[in-house]
Amino acid sequence: MKKLITLLPGDGIGKEVTAEGKRVLDKIAQEFDHQFEFNEAIIGHDAIEATGHALPDETLAILKKADAILFGAVGHPHYDNNPSLKVRPEQGLLKMRKELGLYANLRPIKLFDELLEASSIKPEILRGSDILFFRELTGDVYFGERGRKDNDNTAYDVMIYSRYEVDRIAHKAFAAAQTRKKKLVSVDKANVLESSRLWRSVVQEVGKAYPDVELSHMFVDAAAMKLIQDPRSFDVVVTGNLFGDILTDEASQIAGSMGMLASASIGDSVGLYEPIHGSAHDITGKGIANPLASILSTALMLDISFGLKEESQHIIDAVSQTLKAGFRTVDIADSKTDKDKILSTEQMGAQVTQRIRANETVPAN
Ligand code: NAD
Repeated sequence: MKKLITLLPGDGIGKEVTAEGKRVLDKIAQEFDHQFEFNEAIIGHDAIEATGHALPDETLAILKKADAILFGAVGHPHYDNNPSLKVRPEQGLLKMRKELGLYANLRPIKLFDELLEASSIKPEILRGSDILFFRELTGDVYFGERGRKDNDNTAYDVMIYSRYEVDRIAHKAFAAAQTRKKKLVSVDKANVLESSRLWRSVVQEVGKAYPDVELSHMFVDAAAMKLIQDPRSFDVVVTGNLFGDILTDEASQIAGSMGMLASASIGDSVGLYEPIHGSAHDITGKGIANPLASILSTALMLDISFGLKEESQHIIDAVSQTLKAGFRTVDIADSKTDKDKILSTEQMGAQVTQRIRANETVPAN
């Protein structure tokens, strides 16, 4: 298979982890006889420094020609500490989602058994958790009208959803539930918010076309509690942009670390694959970032964008074998981890890569 993959490393540890994602894709191409061609573009802080824009037109043009995109993260302390700055790295991300029509963010939350102890939640509550989140990406408070009034003493961000936006992501979530345990929870705040009442009624309407899927609704506050109280009770979850943003970070604790969670943003054209974490300035340049979320994002890419399910599974198996062999980055290490097996970003990428073989999976040692 011949594919053009655009690398969009972005800022901070985005660069460090994307390099390991590429390493894995190179190995897959070599082992399974595919031709993956790579090009690279800038976004975020780097792009602002070079062009004055967080998502320059040249980057957008490159992205539109790609078969898939491997994204790192954007963000820089300069902006985090100056909320009044008008041009900001995150704008690049929001504009990219809008321009590429990426309306659904898929976040599989599945715990590798080897990391049961790394989570702050009790192993007996976690074991067997397997949740697929669908977070809507192009609506909500992120894109509604915003501003200041009353001489700068009042600020507002309008939470807004259209029937069309809810309808299309609901279809995706129901379709995914059909391939899993056939249980879909829609999360909203319909007891208070009008946009949530529209959300709920559209999801109910869409559900009529999927009678085999058991649909339930949950308020976001209850969902936040239930997620850590009984994560196994969830199968597929669909929710809006803001609630999804918060709940999926909470759910990252189920997987042990932000550094373990991959995501796919899909829509009408090219798919974008990215770790859910940010640019993590606190560890940038130290070589200790966990690259597994980026590596697992490449597995999602192969599966969803290219239909390469076997190759995708090889990546997941290689990650699992690496963990079974006791290797950890600092964020997922615990008191029982052998000090010699705490790896740098590059070493972890190399361990996973060497376990990817077309005809075998190297056993744990
Ligand atoms: P963050 O995800 O960057 O980091 C949160 C914590 O998790 C930090 O302690 C960090 O060290 C740790 N962490 C994250 N990824 C890790 C990894 N791969 N390995 C080991 N540890 C990891 O979130 P933050 O600190 O709130 O934000 C930092 C910057 O990233 C901000 O500028 C923010 O705007 C940006 N951000 C970007 C995205 C994105 O590009 N998708 C997402 C979230 C935050």
